[in-house]
Amino acid sequence: MTDIDHLKALVRSVPDFPVPGILFYDVTTLLKDRKGFATLVDALAEQYVDHNADLVLGIEARGFIFGPALAYRLGAGFVPVRKPGKLPAETIAADYELEYGNNRLEIHTDAVRPGQRVIIVDDLLATGGTAAATVELVTALGGEVIGLGFVIELDFLHGRDKLAGHDVFSLLRYD
Ligand code: 5GP
Repeated sequence: MTDIDHLKALVRSVPDFPVPGILFYDVTTLLKDRKGFATLVDALAEQYVDHNADLVLGIEARGFIFGPALAYRLGAGFVPVRKPGKLPAETIAADYELEYGNNRLEIHTDAVRPGQRVIIVDDLLATGGTAAATVELVTALGGEVIGLGFVIELDFLHGRDKLAGHDVFSLLRYD
């Protein structure tokens, strides 16, 4: 089994979560596996080791799991991008559509300085709305998005199209 097949085998698919008709890819089963988690973080780090990133941005909530591990490996800082009302200081916001529902993301206005090189990380790229909103936040603060990294990409939802012009990397792709 290749590393990729090994990782895919560790992801659990849950039908009808959080609403009927959605097949949810659950990464908690991958996270709890010692080799699985290490392989995953190593693969992300390998992808970005030469990018000279200043910051890794993790999207709430599962981007908070992989983001800090990657930031540590790259010697970069970590910035949380959060759901509304969670960040204590001054924020800016971006609205977006989810595969199921609408939402808003916020970032501290002083989290990214103009010109800083930013990698955005989340567990899964579906329609791309969440990631595109995060790009909007970074750009509004003057940061440069040098890469977007995902554990899983659902190819059939074409989320990449919303991120055109950006360097998009995903480890496990599903048709
Ligand atoms: P998008 O905005 O690309 O449509 O949705 C991506 C966001 O929704 C990510 O933040 C991701 O965590 C969450 N998400 C959507 N579907 C799934 C799924 O099947 N599994 C997991 N783990 N997260 C999902």
